[in-house]
Order: sequence, then C-alpha cells, then structure tokens
Amino acid sequence: MLYLLDLRTIALVYVAIRVGLAVVLAYLWSVQRNYPPARDWAIGAILTASGLFLLALRNLVSPQISEILSSVLLLPGWMIFDWGIIRACGQQPPYKLWIGLCALVLLGNFWFSEVQPNDPLETMLYHGLLILFDLGAAYACLTSRCGTRRQTFRAIALLLLISVLSVGFKLAMEVFGLFAPLADSVPKVIQLLCSMTLFPMLTMLLALQTSQKLQDELNEQARRDMLTGAYNRRAFAEYIEHAWRRAGRHRQPLSVILLDIDNFKHFNDQYGHQTGDQALELVSRTAQTALRNHDIWCRYGGEEFIALLPDTDLRQACICAERLRAAVAQTKLDGPLGALSLSVSLGVAQRNADHSNWSELVAVADAALYQAKAAGKNCVMAGEE
Ligand code: GH3
Ligand code: MG
Ligand code: MG
Repeated sequence: MLYLLDLRTIALVYVAIRVGLAVVLAYLWSVQRNYPPARDWAIGAILTASGLFLLALRNLVSPQISEILSSVLLLPGWMIFDWGIIRACGQQPPYKLWIGLCALVLLGNFWFSEVQPNDPLETMLYHGLLILFDLGAAYACLTSRCGTRRQTFRAIALLLLISVLSVGFKLAMEVFGLFAPLADSVPKVIQLLCSMTLFPMLTMLLALQTSQKLQDELNEQARRDMLTGAYNRRAFAEYIEHAWRRAGRHRQPLSVILLDIDNFKHFNDQYGHQTGDQALELVSRTAQTALRNHDIWCRYGGEEFIALLPDTDLRQACICAERLRAAVAQTKLDGPLGALSLSVSLGVAQRNADHSNWSELVAVADAALYQAKAAGKNCVMAGEE
C-alpha cells in the first residue's frame, strides 16, 4: 500500500474516513438525544474531523494559520470524545483539570508557533496530553461496573491503549529520535494506519454501546408504570417468581404487603381525576421512600400497590406496613381547595409451606386487606402465618 499511495493520499483518505465517522456519531446522537455520552462522541468527532480537514488543507491556506486553527479543534475534540467514554462508564471526568490542561497546552502551542517554531517540546506537550486523555478513558473503561456492557468497554479500552502506543511511537521517533534506521515518514504512516482501523472500530463499539443503552431504557420503560414510576404488574411477576424460588432454595422468609387507598372513588368524585392522579403519585412516592432499597414496589392495579419484601418475616413485614400507613397518613396533598389528607389500608402475608405458588401468597394478603377495610380502614391486618 505504501508503494501505491503516497503519504498525502493516505492522509486525505484518513480525513474522509474521520468525516464519515463523525456523521455516523452525529446520527447516533440524533437517535439517543437523552444520552449525554452520545452527544460528547458526536461533538468530539465533529471537532476532530474539522481539525483534520483544516490540516489537510494546509497547503491551500496558510500552513501556520491552518495548524493553529486545527490544534484549537483537535485537542478539545479529542478531550470531549474521551470525556463521553468516561461518562458512559458511569464516572465523572475531571472536567476542570482537563479544561485547564487543554487551555495551557493550546496557549503553549500558540506561543511556540509564534516564538519558537519547530520546538520538540510543543509536539511533546500536545501528544502527551492526547496520551493522558486516552489513558484516562481506558482506565475508566477497565474499572467500569456497567455489568452487561463490560465486554464492550474492555474492547474500547484495548483500542484506546493501541492508540496510546501509536501516538507514543510517533513521539519516541520524532522527539527522542528512537528507531533511527526507520524512514522519517514511518511513524506518521503507522499512526495514520492505526487510526484508520482504530476509529471505525471505536465508532462501531460506541454504536453498539448506545444501542444496548437504548435497549436497556426500553426494557426499563416496559417494566414501569407511566404515572407513578413504580414497577408494573409484569415486572412484579418476574421479581416475585425469582424471589419465590430463591426463598424456597435458601429457606428464607418472604413477605408481601398489599396496599389500597381508602375511599379513593369518593376522592376522585370530590376533587377530580387529575388531583386523583397526583394523589396516586404522592402515595407511591411516600410509600417507596419508607421501604428498604432492595424491596420491590409495584402498582398492582388502579389504586392498589404491592411491596415485595425478600428475607422478611410476617412480624417485620407488619412493622414495615405500619410505617407505610403512618407515612401516608402524615402526608398532605396540595389540592385546589387546600391540603388534602389520604389514608391507606394494608394486608400483609408471609410465604409458608402451604402455598404452592406465589398467587396464593398474594391471595392471603388480599384477604387480609379485605379485613383491614372491614375493620374501618387506615389500618394494617396480617394474614395467617
Ligand atoms: P375502598 O376504601 O374500599 O378501597 O374504596 P375505594 O373507593 O378506594 O375503592 P374502589 O375500588 O371502589 O375505587 C377505586 C377507584 O380508584 C376507582 C377509580 O376511579 C380509581 N382509580 C383507579 N385508577 C386510577 C387512576 O389511574 N387515576 C385516578 N385518578 N383514579 C383511579
Ligand atoms: Mg380503594
Ligand atoms: Mg381498590
């Protein structure tokens, strides 16, 4: 290939590839508007592609101006791109430190090009910072805890490390004069060929990561109730199925609390459906904050909710139910005619050897809820142990 194409042609092909990749990443951003890393990748790629484009035009425009302008685009572009990778790993990039370093290097770059052109320190500073960004992003990928996407992040880390090696090789040769027997153009060609293969692969992995993220979001949406944000009945069935088997296997207790808002039909009739919806949201939020993190909270029906309490016996579940009741009773809803009070009735049940499946456990909680309503509402009743 090197015999067929000169360095200039390879560089032009490379710029064309980077422009194409920027378009792909911009498209990803447009389909995943609420995913900040997709925006960082698109903006980073657009800046980098524009910088490379300017660099390719250096002989048409003034070389000095195009070099200064391109470095102003390339360095922040690279930074924002790596920034997105770190954010996708669930971590916060060190914004201030990076922006500060970037600004210092750009100022240094400007000073060098005006006062001391062709100083090797300029190349060292510039490429050193690129290596630092890539290493930071690779480290974030390797320590990422995003379970299902771990393999993708490992592959991204590997590509970033190869990129570090290729930039490092260029530095070693151009600045420190290592590998002297090789021709001058070799480090440039190696870096170009490396980038030509690395960036399409990186873009492919980032597209994969974004589509996985989108899939996760869709799955999560399908499991949530739109109004209250609590899990829906379908998700509840999955959770209790799993918890049921686990409790049987490890001989651990398992309880459920069924909650129903008192006189809700009357509430709706009196204050309107919209206020009724606000009340549902408020009850759900209040009850959820009174539960532990690993308890599962679901909207079971119209104004009925169910809490799944793993590793909890009937006595502990009754204490929890009483906490939910008291929390709702103390909460006030700002309605059109002032603060409105609500109350809930709760039925509690614990899994026992007589239950052949989880529907029977829920039926016991339902019977206990019925008793709570019969006993005057705003109270907790337990099913038989
Ligand atoms: P009880 O104390 O015996 O539970 O009486 P209740 O009026 O709460 O019981 P009932 O089951 O008769 O009424 C439930 C009401 O919940 C009827 C329905 O209009 C209302 N509801 C169900 N889903 C929604 C909803 O999404 N939004 C609103 N605003 N109301 C809802
Ligand atoms: Mg009700
Ligand atoms: Mg009801």
